[in-house]
Amino acid sequence: IKIKITNIDIPVAFASAFEGEIIRRKDMQVEFDGSRVDCAELVHTCDASEIEDHKITVVGPEVDDMELGSKNSIAYVVKVAGKNMQPDFEPVIERKFHNYINCIEGVYHTGQRDMQRIRISKTAFEAGFKIKHIGEVLYASVKNEFDAVVDKCEVVIYTDPAECTRVRHEVAIPIFDKRDERLDTLTDESVDVYYSCILCQAFSPSHVCVVTPERLGLCGAVSWLDAKATHQLDPNGPCQVITKERPINEELGSYEDVDEAVQKLSQGALEHVTLYSIMQDPMTSCGCFECICGIEPFSNGVVIANREYAGMTPLGMTFPEMASMTGGGVQTPGFMGHGKHFISSKKFMKAEGGIERIVWMPKELKEFVADRLNKTAKDLYGIDNFTDMIGDETIAEDPETLVAFLTEKGHPALGLDPMM
Ligand code: SF4
Ligand code: ZN
Repeated sequence: IKIKITNIDIPVAFASAFEGEIIRRKDMQVEFDGSRVDCAELVHTCDASEIEDHKITVVGPEVDDMELGSKNSIAYVVKVAGKNMQPDFEPVIERKFHNYINCIEGVYHTGQRDMQRIRISKTAFEAGFKIKHIGEVLYASVKNEFDAVVDKCEVVIYTDPAECTRVRHEVAIPIFDKRDERLDTLTDESVDVYYSCILCQAFSPSHVCVVTPERLGLCGAVSWLDAKATHQLDPNGPCQVITKERPINEELGSYEDVDEAVQKLSQGALEHVTLYSIMQDPMTSCGCFECICGIEPFSNGVVIANREYAGMTPLGMTFPEMASMTGGGVQTPGFMGHGKHFISSKKFMKAEGGIERIVWMPKELKEFVADRLNKTAKDLYGIDNFTDMIGDETIAEDPETLVAFLTEKGHPALGLDPMM
């Protein structure tokens, strides 16, 4: 990916060289953390008459008013207008915020939607970096990269906690939900093509995501609709069409077309990738997975941990420990990074029996996916309230306690064949 270095009016440098920069706690002035407080990032299509181009507004305290080392709320809404703009392009532009903000010297960004995390370093703060400069960067980058569809752009950044709560819950989440619902009507069988995404090759050179309607990118930010929009916006860009005309094994989700595409896009590093198996030629992981699932041999099942979860899992590993085994664009059978929404997909490790393999998840994640996961379990196996059978950290953090719980609940994984 290329990011043009532009003349943006900010007191620190802006260049792709700063993308990989990490800001440690002791070097940080302030942080914003969507997993702890209300945050959001959103592109919103408006009528041209509603937008004043290059207007940047900050609603709430500036960095100077925030306590050193504090965790704060932030929500930014990038309003765009243009003759060729489509609401389907909004999430594609949003996903680029991660790169834009990371290119600021002394500023670090991860996550997306309402789960982003930003750190501003002491050095950037001392150089005069302010919240409004995030707006300058977003404005210039969006105008620069999406000039084919964005004619006018205005940025509103909220740091007032009550406003962030309002924007997150009343504006952003309903929009995210609507996007997810659109996708729900599509299945892998109902579409003619899949899409590749190689946006993360900047960090993981051999990593390729194959994005299908029922399997979004592992970052959770690129759905099949997003990949399709990305391809429309930039036909030679990170998302390419993958045909699905030559299936090898429908259970595994393997196709000659998919293999050819990943071979080419990984420069030969990958030969075979399946869409539905975590044991046989699983998809690779870069570093930005929302979740990781890993096999739990005592229960014939899998444990899932999400990035926000700070505790221990019954695998004897924390999320960062699981991540160190999973990332880097290599295939690691038995471990796989994936998006949160993939958990309730009928294609989730379908080759190994599907979601009935899930034996443990952090409580918060379980609650987040419960409605959708329970519906899938009912549809696939006729099981009611499946999430009640799944362990969490309040029930077990070791395999013995977990298996005792699963046995008591009659969890279906115990009756399945071992995975290895
Ligand atoms: Fe694309 Fe996959 Fe990276 Fe998401 S994780 S941006 S889908 S390559
Ligand atoms: Zn990635």
